[in-house]
Formats: sequence, C-alpha cells, structure tokens
Amino acid sequence: DILANQIAAGEVVERPASVVKELVENAIDANSTQIDIYLEEAGLRKIQVIDNGDGIEPDDVLNAFKRHATSKIITRDDLFRIKTLGFRGEALPSIASVSEITLETSTGENEGSFVKLSGGQIIETKPNALRKGTKLKVENLFFNTPARLKYVKTLQTELANVGDIVNRLAMSHPYIAFRLVHDGNKMLATTGNGDIRQTIAGIYGMSTAKKMLEISGEDLDFKVSGYISLPELTRASRNYLSIIINGRYIKNHLLNKAIVEGYGSKLMIGRFPLAVIQIDMDPLLVDVNVHPTKQEVRLSKENELMDLISHTIQSVLSEKQL
Ligand code: ADP
Ligand code: MG
Repeated sequence: DILANQIAAGEVVERPASVVKELVENAIDANSTQIDIYLEEAGLRKIQVIDNGDGIEPDDVLNAFKRHATSKIITRDDLFRIKTLGFRGEALPSIASVSEITLETSTGENEGSFVKLSGGQIIETKPNALRKGTKLKVENLFFNTPARLKYVKTLQTELANVGDIVNRLAMSHPYIAFRLVHDGNKMLATTGNGDIRQTIAGIYGMSTAKKMLEISGEDLDFKVSGYISLPELTRASRNYLSIIINGRYIKNHLLNKAIVEGYGSKLMIGRFPLAVIQIDMDPLLVDVNVHPTKQEVRLSKENELMDLISHTIQSVLSEKQL
C-alpha cells in the first residue's frame, strides 16, 4: 500500500509546490478564512500550512491518509458537479508516503487529534488540544525517494514555483486571507476582504493593480469577470495570465489565446498582458477529473467561451479608447 501511494505520489507530488497546492486546497475546502503557509528551504525541509477551517473529527483522522478516502464525494452524481477543489482522496496518502507528516486538527467541539507519520507509516497518535482548525507539517520531502529528490531544481526555482501557486490560489479566493512566509521572510499577505484588485495589489504591487481594467461579460452559459492590464503594461511571459473557473485556477492554452486575441493588434509580438479572469459556469460544462493535479480541465462549449472572453476584453479596451 505504501508502494501504491509512492507511485501515486509520482503523479501528484512532483515538487514542494505540488505539496503546497494540495495542502492549501484542503484548507480551502475546509471553509478556512485564514491560511498561513510557512516554508523552510523552499519547502524541502519544511512546509507548514495552518488553517482555521472545519478540522477533522478524531474518528476520521487516520482515514484521511488512506487512498481514495475522500470526505468530499458522497454519490456518483457528485463527481459530475464538483464544487470542492479536492475529490480524489489521494493527496494526503501520496504526500505522506514521501515525507514526514505531523497533523494536528480539531473541529473545535471535542478533543482534537495529533498524528505523526514517516514514509506513510503511522508513528504516533494522541489526543491534542487545539483551537478549531488544522495544522499540517510536511518535513524532509522525498527523504525516502532519492530519485525524486534529484529532479528538484534549485531552491530559487522551487520557491518561485511555490510563490506562483500560492498567488493563484489567493487570486482565486479573495475572501480568504493568505500569508506565505519563507525562512522568516514574508512573501505574500492578502487581506481576505473579497476585493480582487486588492488581492492583485498584494501580489503584483499597488501601482500595477491600479493600472488594471475591470472587465465583465456574460452569455447564456458563462459569466466572465476580472481584471486585465492596459496594453502598455505587458510582460514577456504568459505566466501573468490567471484563469479561474468556478473558484479553481486552471491552465488552458486556448483560453490564454482568447485573452491575447482580445487585445488584437494592440499587443506587441511576444508580449502578454497581466490578467485575472474569473469564469462562472454550470459545473456540468467542465470536467476537472482529467489529471491527478486537477489543473487541466476539459470544457464543453470551449469555442463559445473563447469568443466571450476575447469579445469582453475587446469591448472594454475600445470603450476606454485604448
Ligand atoms: P481530497 O481532498 O481529494 O478529499 P486529500 O487526500 O487531499 O483528499 O484529503 C483527504 C481528506 O482529509 C479530505 O477529504 C478531508 O476530509 C481531510 N482533510 C485534509 N486536509 C484537511 C484540512 N486542512 N481541514 C479539514 N479536513 C482536511
Ligand atoms: Mg485534497
């Protein structure tokens, strides 16, 4: 079973950023309003995520580390209307199989729990006093899979990847206050007051956020809203395009293309805007169960959505005579 988990880990847990993503998504699914992330050595030595969410009942704590034990899908129908970020029940067992985990959690009602695992084996469990919420600490990632460790890039690259993921999670969840601290240095803090422009300011800086235009558009199937940069404020990389579908940030090169197309000839070749685009749609129109990391999605009516995105951008730019 530990072997099966390590194999799954190969797909879900590529690097510190993938661990941070899964842990933070769990905290989001648990209805947290404050999520703090502490890293040491770009997360390779330590990743700690502290949330103020629902916590886990003492009886369910060990289940959380069993494969395909998810509390989030109850019926087969749920799989087609996924509202939570997690649903596959493989992140925690996978991460546990390649690291040392300490979990402290409490629902705020009964006594909380403490569990320690190493390489997927339970080492210690005991009752634990804690306010409502969950503290999950992952130490010495890949300590027992040296081959994996070899694929890890420089600390700087790994840290940049973590920062990128946390930025996108924060932009997708403006009602949650995020804090990211690396080796004692604060890398990100958002207020959680729901204002996306303020969240963008926390990430890209106030002067950039001020220079972004609000967009909104809809048709029968989709609602598109968010912020885009002025045509003169561009970057040489697509990394600043963030697409969020029903609260899940996703990667989709066709939708990226639709954003760029909305600018038409106003963009210089090889330049890309900054954009944070939220799309709301019937969950039945999007299949998130394509890949274990859940970042790729399959969309029905993709062309319709592309047109809506580029037309919405086009009309805002021409309204402002840009
Ligand atoms: P999934 O998110 O796909 O359900 P995971 O392996 O990520 O699977 O997590 C397993 C289970 O552990 C979740 O379904 C949830 O019940 C519980 N869990 C994990 N992290 C938290 C958290 N921070 N707060 C509350 N419950 C959590
Ligand atoms: Mg999960």
